Amino acid sequence: MPSSPLDVIGSPLDVIGADDDFVHLDYAASAPCVRAAADAVHHLLPRYGSVHRGTGVRSQASTLAYELARDVVAEFVGARPGDTVVFTRNTTDALNLLARALPAGTTTVQFDGEHHANLLPWPNPLRLPAPASPDEAVGSLKGALDGLSGPVVFTVTGASNVTGEVWPVRELADVAHSYGARVVVDAAQLAPHVPIDLDDLGADYLALSGHKLYAPFGAGVLAGRSDWLDAAEPYLAGGGASAAVGDRPGELTWATGAARHEGGTPNLLGAVALAAVCDAFTAADRAVLHRQEQELLARLRAGLAGVPGATEVSLFGPDHPRVGIVSLALPGHDPAEVAQRLGREHGIGVRAGQFCAHPLVRRLTGAGRTGACGDVPGLLRISFGVGSTGRDADRVVAALATVLGTDRT
Ligand code: PMP
Repeated sequence: MPSSPLDVIGSPLDVIGADDDFVHLDYAASAPCVRAAADAVHHLLPRYGSVHRGTGVRSQASTLAYELARDVVAEFVGARPGDTVVFTRNTTDALNLLARALPAGTTTVQFDGEHHANLLPWPNPLRLPAPASPDEAVGSLKGALDGLSGPVVFTVTGASNVTGEVWPVRELADVAHSYGARVVVDAAQLAPHVPIDLDDLGADYLALSGHKLYAPFGAGVLAGRSDWLDAAEPYLAGGGASAAVGDRPGELTWATGAARHEGGTPNLLGAVALAAVCDAFTAADRAVLHRQEQELLARLRAGLAGVPGATEVSLFGPDHPRVGIVSLALPGHDPAEVAQRLGREHGIGVRAGQFCAHPLVRRLTGAGRTGACGDVPGLLRISFGVGSTGRDADRVVAALATVLGTDRT
């Protein structure tokens, strides 16, 4: 018997396609689609047209939907008046876009604990070793900024895709700003778990991916200050990015605002689905979601602590706040083989490897700071989110104990 109307009509944050035979615990790679996103796509499929490019009813409605989606996302990230919200393909795309829009001569300061998407696109990188504590991070950043002149960007993740640890973004941003540097936050793993707000984070820019935020693949966001974006060459030259084109090469006026960096026909379905999820999160009780996630995390970690041969890794220590991501070192086992067996024999989807964060995983596995791309055993990552249950946590703990007890690799 349903106890509330929501039990009948469901919630926009219900995961669609949930299957009792399969446990998805790889949300950090891509989260499952929720109903808000599916409904948005379903609604649009029979009526979409080209965005910004037609006078027909379909095109007009699609243009409106696309720009409304931008407004919704702007609210979700706490965009300030004058900020630009650009729809991109994903976080990687958003960070590459921004990296190409920096003024000439910009130095980028980063820690080497970043995902490759936030490690590799940046010009003139000054790379600091991943710190062992938030205090060390602050001290290390100060030391690096002390000697720098010219435009400086400091780029940092909101939450680690490897350990799930929440980085002290606000403290670091305050330091960076006191030196006149701008701050970029890679919110790919933060946004799915906690409310994000550019001002609260102290961010000048942030980037996120729709597919980690319960929407389909192919839409991401770069949000932040407009001046550098407006002054930069368009990310993709072409239609949409150009306001007027003359007969001779080079005779042209680029578009301003988000359009400047959204060359080509935009991903309407992706943007609208992403915005629908943002809307659903904005309307949801985030405090309740957070509490549920933390309870689940505690249950999972307590269970894993009792599995012989599995050791949770962390950068800032086991008590540091984290989102629903846990990585395990499995000395004497091949994490890839263990992950395969969890899938094959127990119907549990996790991920093994270095998670596009090679320097960090080398450090966490004690493989040392060789500076070389050596052979690193990697880790096993379990990650969850909306729709995950205590039963999922118990199943992966029991399955891991079985696999490690019988693993012969
Ligand atoms: N940053 C972080 C922290 C991530 O976890 C990821 C994805 N694993 C990315 C950036 C890149 O996201 P995408 O592949 O969607 O571009």
